[in-house]
Amino acid sequence: MKVVKGTETIVNPLQKSSLHKKGLCDYVINIASGCLHGCTFCYVPSTPAIRARQSELMSRGVENPQLDWGKYLFLRQEIPEKLDIILSRKRIWNYTPSGKGVVLLCSGTDPYQNAETALITRQTIEVLIKHQKRVRILTRSPRWVKDLDLLKNPNITVGMSLPHLNDHLSRQIEPYAPLPSLRFEALKAGYEAGCRLYVALAPTPPEMDYEEFHHLLSKVLELKPEVIFWEPINARGTNGRRMQAAGLDFAESVMSRDAWANSFVHQWEAIERAALELDCTERLHIWVDAELEHYVPASKLQAWFYRPTCERWLADPYSPLDSYPLIDVESISNR
Ligand code: SF4
Repeated sequence: MKVVKGTETIVNPLQKSSLHKKGLCDYVINIASGCLHGCTFCYVPSTPAIRARQSELMSRGVENPQLDWGKYLFLRQEIPEKLDIILSRKRIWNYTPSGKGVVLLCSGTDPYQNAETALITRQTIEVLIKHQKRVRILTRSPRWVKDLDLLKNPNITVGMSLPHLNDHLSRQIEPYAPLPSLRFEALKAGYEAGCRLYVALAPTPPEMDYEEFHHLLSKVLELKPEVIFWEPINARGTNGRRMQAAGLDFAESVMSRDAWANSFVHQWEAIERAALELDCTERLHIWVDAELEHYVPASKLQAWFYRPTCERWLADPYSPLDSYPLIDVESISNR
């Protein structure tokens, strides 16, 4: 299928999110449908955001919204304008202990995948700053570095997905996303500029072992991220078939429940051991999966659901929960 591009309208771009379960946010804004990075493991197409709109996407020229993930992008250009109106009228803001009232860009696409999405993202962040909202950016693209003037803000944290540092492997697993080496350089630029940072070591391929986690963590710690999220590749929806189609040897093992769970548990132990060795356990945040319930003790699993991260935000006078200390902005810019 040829790449299909276009625009679409959305009634309310500010969606309440269940991602406080992972310590990420209470709201999400997705500035587009589809993602040109087309990572083979991506499970966004199996979420309601795409599943519920299959026929609509097909009517717009997408042959198979599941298997053609990565070959369509519909921009939501009206978001900044609509968001400003919504936030001007909004009186109640959702705060959970683990979501901390944060707005995430994005959960279902990459906010900086090209110049057009980057422009919408920039304008959206400007609106969020105007309304004093906490913002979390999550991207695989170094393009955000062009917005450092905006992103160096104590109420914004920028995170990149960096599951490993192997550029060659990345071409197989996430062939259209910028290389991990470029992502690392972008994070370094953000660190040097004084941005608040976090890293998502996600999703890691099943063959990664203790030595690789140790190396990855030690490199990432050079950037002093406030939190380091981790999860392995999980098979969801059609991602197993897309990984197989990409010729990934490990795809089959991820698709078997036992093999996947055993690998998850093994990697979990390995990354915790590496974090202990590197003295960064307080920053490591595990994204567990409910499907592990027969493979790890319930208490170990439950300890990670809805757990607040160790991140600190500017105190917010509108938050019913807010007892977080003010960030010392000087200490961030002087790192
Ligand atoms: S960048 Fe994120 S949203 Fe886009 S395909 Fe990759 S995992 Fe999915």
